Amino acid sequence: MTENLPGAVRDRVAPSPTGDPHVGTAYMSLFNLAFARKNDGRFLLRIEDTDRTRFREDSEQQVYDTLRWLGLTWDEGPDIGGPCAPYRQSERLDTYRPFVEQLLADGHAYYCWCTPQRLADMREAQQKAKRPTGYDRLCYGKTAEERATLPGFAETPVVRMLIPRDAPIAFTDLIRGEVKAPRPDDQVIRKADGYPTYHLAVVVDDHLMGITHVVRGEEWISSTPKHLLLYRWLGLQPPAFAHMPLLRNTDKSKISKRKNPAARLTWFAEQGYLPDALVNFLALLAYPPITETDEAGNPVEREVFTFDEFSAGFEWSKVNPAGPIFDLKKLDWLNGVYIRSLDEADFVGRMVPFLVADNVFGPERAAPTDEQLTTLTAVAPLIQTRMALLTEASGYVRPFFLGAAELPIADDARAELPAGTADILVAARAAVAGVDDWTDERIEAAVRAALIDGMGLKPKVAFTPIRVAISGARISPPLFESMRILGRDETLARLDRLTGDL
Ligand code: GLU
Repeated sequence: MTENLPGAVRDRVAPSPTGDPHVGTAYMSLFNLAFARKNDGRFLLRIEDTDRTRFREDSEQQVYDTLRWLGLTWDEGPDIGGPCAPYRQSERLDTYRPFVEQLLADGHAYYCWCTPQRLADMREAQQKAKRPTGYDRLCYGKTAEERATLPGFAETPVVRMLIPRDAPIAFTDLIRGEVKAPRPDDQVIRKADGYPTYHLAVVVDDHLMGITHVVRGEEWISSTPKHLLLYRWLGLQPPAFAHMPLLRNTDKSKISKRKNPAARLTWFAEQGYLPDALVNFLALLAYPPITETDEAGNPVEREVFTFDEFSAGFEWSKVNPAGPIFDLKKLDWLNGVYIRSLDEADFVGRMVPFLVADNVFGPERAAPTDEQLTTLTAVAPLIQTRMALLTEASGYVRPFFLGAAELPIADDARAELPAGTADILVAARAAVAGVDDWTDERIEAAVRAALIDGMGLKPKVAFTPIRVAISGARISPPLFESMRILGRDETLARLDRLTGDL
């Protein structure tokens, strides 16, 4: 039945809905999708929800939302259906049953009635004796009645694989070449609750869904020999495997949601990252920059690229298997690049939700008025080149929506005011009041004439008091442009206010 499925290449991402989606789900989706697109294939989303103890209700929707936000969209999945529906494992329990029965009938699997306590004691004893840990096959070859006479018996059995001593442990990986994994233990394939474990379900589903390439995290390398045995025992053609390098923190440890907020996929939108920047960053974690030739014919590397460019040249041989470091500084830099590339309307539109959330337009998350949007559009070009994250917008923009009296003056800004600030502000006020044509150039010319030529001040000394009066901060958008946008009355009011405040 799988021959007739659409797409010569079929790959998938298979997250477990156990909490906030992990950033690794986006990273796996990206590489799967790039490979599928390159080969006119199909990318599937399958929800692996067989672990009922860790299941979280809202997690599945978050997977959809975050992947869609990133533009990593799937061709088949639980929410959109497809020829292999259902795509949620908890809805496929009947599908797995005959496969387990077949393995039992063929002697490749057996029932195990050991209680969790007995397994824990067994493991402890093995560790104490410094023997390899693994199931000791107490239940193998026994009927329930025979086993019931021994200690540590549970009424409802699990089903285990009977892993042969000489089970093959090597396989070929598209990224790593020949890989050797440790010899597997007698893996449980059906739990006491009747649910299959991941190992059985993944093999059955990858087969029935016509998956040609299994692209997943490096942590599954040790499971692959078990999966290959299941394929063999069930008489199925195994897919190709590509195990992606795990993402690591700067201290090389594995990225976990407990230790690193950036492990949560929802974090990036909250922090003001742009989806295209994150996609570019995730690609660069395991993939080289695009190489082009400059006019002189020399190769030059380009780190900034789109998903389409990434996918068009995609090859497994270029994926670097060394654990990539998740360096947020690099992402901040990339995000700044992407922010600068937005057109004005897009940039404004993306800032608005952050400004609303920070009550920049008014209390209780007020939406902007038309007048405020006009001001924001005027401010946008002044700040677009300065921002790495959209969350920085509020700090820059808020002063434009406050009256002179409400503008907070930051302590560190006040501390920078030079001696003679009062005189500087008074002179600046007189100069600004006399500007005939309210443009950036005229305002600047008037201020320079009064303070630099007239009073003989250095620019930094002359402009610091004005900057603090206008923005309340040490660092602000360009000064004269800001004054132009605020208007003459507000500019004068701010200069007066700081003078009165000294
Ligand atoms: N459900 C597994 C996970 O959450 C999928 C592993 C695989 O892709 O085979 O990582």
